Amino acid sequence: MKPISIAIDGPSGAGKSTLARSVAAKLGFLYVDTGAIYRTIAYDVLQRGIDPGDEAAVLAGLPQLRLELSHGADGLQHMLRNGEDVTDAIRLPEVSMCASVVSAYPGVRSYLLDMQRRLAAEHSVVMDGRDIGTVVLPDATVKIYLTARAEERARRRMLELEQRGTPQPYEEILEDIRRRDWNDTHRAAAPLRQAEDAVLVDTTRLNFEESEEALMRLIVERMRE
Ligand code: C5P
Repeated sequence: MKPISIAIDGPSGAGKSTLARSVAAKLGFLYVDTGAIYRTIAYDVLQRGIDPGDEAAVLAGLPQLRLELSHGADGLQHMLRNGEDVTDAIRLPEVSMCASVVSAYPGVRSYLLDMQRRLAAEHSVVMDGRDIGTVVLPDATVKIYLTARAEERARRRMLELEQRGTPQPYEEILEDIRRRDWNDTHRAAAPLRQAEDAVLVDTTRLNFEESEEALMRLIVERMRE
């Protein structure tokens, strides 16, 4: 049977990863967090002291990076950089900003395209990112565009950072979110936008359970068609 693919795109902090992971577990599909893949490249760039603004240097460094994904029995996606598990390290704010810069380079995007498509060809997936429904999997079975107001996304991110023990002031988080939104929607290569056939889900006024319910309802409905 042909694998099923659920594409979930949207801006930073809309709840994509948490929801996509939980929906994937419910459906028994593989969860693929493509942001984590871009983050691992950004982490590598920072670790090696490469200037993220130097496109040629970033691209030249790619072949030296051994980038791997591993999925544990728990369904969690771990990111490996040259064999080292960097799953937690890639969540730091400086890595987020750097990912937003390097992901604008067409060379970085095309480098990752095959990897993402291969995963979806081999498994039924719930894949989240910015260009999954528009570029990576244009024929996805279900496409969802998940969003929420920037202020609400910043509030959620603040709580998440507090829980991780790496708190950051609200205003800074909001500014980061706005800057990343701008970068993601204004870049020439695969900008963030809602695919024409994607369903919009705004989670500003929904809690986790309500958002999950809305997604599951939508997915099950579409899979039946
Ligand atoms: O989703 P997350 O915030 O982890 O993604 C980190 C950054 O990677 C985003 O700000 C975005 O610039 C980039 N990204 C992307 N395309 C994707 C996933 C993430 O450009 N499919």
